[in-house]
Amino acid sequence: MKDIKEKAIYFDMDGTIANLYAVEGWLGMLRAYDPTPYEQAKVMVNMSTLARLLNKLKTKGYHIGIVSWLSKIPQPIYDTQVKQAKRKWLMQHLPSVEFDEIKIVAHGTPKSQAVLYSGGILFDDEQGNRNEWKGQAYDEKNILEILKNLSKNT
Ligand SMILES: [Mg+2]
Repeated sequence: MKDIKEKAIYFDMDGTIANLYAVEGWLGMLRAYDPTPYEQAKVMVNMSTLARLLNKLKTKGYHIGIVSWLSKIPQPIYDTQVKQAKRKWLMQHLPSVEFDEIKIVAHGTPKSQAVLYSGGILFDDEQGNRNEWKGQAYDEKNILEILKNLSKNT
């Protein structure tokens, strides 16, 4: 059963908070089932500010989650490695944030169906994911500003 709780905030990773596509040779490495680019991806926002805002929003009752796709070509061992790399990246860059939900799902999975509260907010660089989402959806450009306003107004 899906709940339409609106006090939820989800983040895509690649291209939204993790700059996967800026890692040199990322596509070739993914095609060769090498998880390294997921580990090496640089951050796209100031992570200490993001952590502070997310922890503030958590105290206001927000559910904080990650909803991210695996690599395009499914491969069981590689999928496990990618999941580990993504979790490691989150622990490395957002160590103070305790996520309520982390969903790392097959490429192409509708994100609204992968999470508990699709009536919440999604940050995602892909237009298709934003269109499919049930709640409010934003691209990667103003994450901190949007969260700042949210933390002030709730
Ligand atoms: Mg993305």
